[in-house]
Amino acid sequence: MTGKKRILTGDRPTGALHLGHYVGSLVNRVKLQEEYDSYILIADVQALTTHWEQGEDLENSVYQITSDYLAAGLDPNQATICIQSKITEIHELAAYFSMYTPVNVLRHNPTIKAEAQQHGFKDLMYGFLGYPVSQAADIAIFKAHVVPVGEDQVPHLELARRIVRRFNDLYKPVLVEPEVLVGQVSRLVGLDGKAKMSKSLNNAIFLSDKPEDVWQKVRNAVTDPARIHKTDPGHPEVCTIFEYHKVFNNSELESIEQECRQGKIGCVACKKRQAQVINQLLEPMHERREQYKSRDILTDILREGTRRAQEVARSTMEEVREAMKIQYFK
Ligand code: ATP
Ligand code: MG
Repeated sequence: MTGKKRILTGDRPTGALHLGHYVGSLVNRVKLQEEYDSYILIADVQALTTHWEQGEDLENSVYQITSDYLAAGLDPNQATICIQSKITEIHELAAYFSMYTPVNVLRHNPTIKAEAQQHGFKDLMYGFLGYPVSQAADIAIFKAHVVPVGEDQVPHLELARRIVRRFNDLYKPVLVEPEVLVGQVSRLVGLDGKAKMSKSLNNAIFLSDKPEDVWQKVRNAVTDPARIHKTDPGHPEVCTIFEYHKVFNNSELESIEQECRQGKIGCVACKKRQAQVINQLLEPMHERREQYKSRDILTDILREGTRRAQEVARSTMEEVREAMKIQYFK
């Protein structure tokens, strides 16, 4: 035991990590990894709730996400990176939680509703509907105090707190009620200017994108539709690129806004500035990623992280079973 408070976060291995993950959650994870005992869960079982037919892609995504973490600045000597399906106690805890979690609470969860629509699910699968319960188990098994996430996860965190409180009331107060920490930008919009930037929606700038990819994506992003000629006055409030300037280019924000409104800076020049700023942010990540190119190094990091996480999970489950009085043969 280090005596530090714990953090738990994670991502579904459904593709590479993007700028939304970075500002929504990763920045906080990197910033807090020294101060907190940090666990980063690669939620492969949760990925199957929407990608059950694509199991063969999971392994590559697990490695992709691991190298994204390391590139973004997570230090494997400080943060424990682990794989959800290998920590089997999580599924046991989720089963216990599911006994007293009403189905209607899950059905009315706004994120579940939005994601069901996004994936075109009409008849909800049992696993999909229940993933917030499993996520509550992810958090509770590590006794996490703080969970840094984007806005879409807030309803899930409220449920996790409720489930933990109920467990502690019903049995014995052995679990920790987690606090949510929403990132500097709780919802980064995608390049389409409509939905949140998402791995599954083809509207993302990835942390692994090279300068030329970034430029092509930014160049094609939707701007102010009312602006046809460079000299037309622009409306930054409806422009996706301006949203990105707000997040990534604070120092030039005022001048860009003025020049856009006065028709002094054209969309191409404005986009060039934006691409430059994003590429500056990504450059040190590309350099760090080079150090972790070998699959063997990544495997060692995942194996060691998962081993450490399994120890914590086993010890929490001893307490859970004891609290529930289902600890047989002892
Ligand atoms: P998928 O489409 O497969 O669900 P995703 O892009 O939504 O992928 P997740 O793995 O579901 O990514 O989310 C991981 C974390 O990143 C969560 O904490 C989530 O809130 C945060 N996050 C994801 N997208 C954004 C975004 N556009 N802005 C801010 N935070 C985000
Ligand atoms: Mg998601």
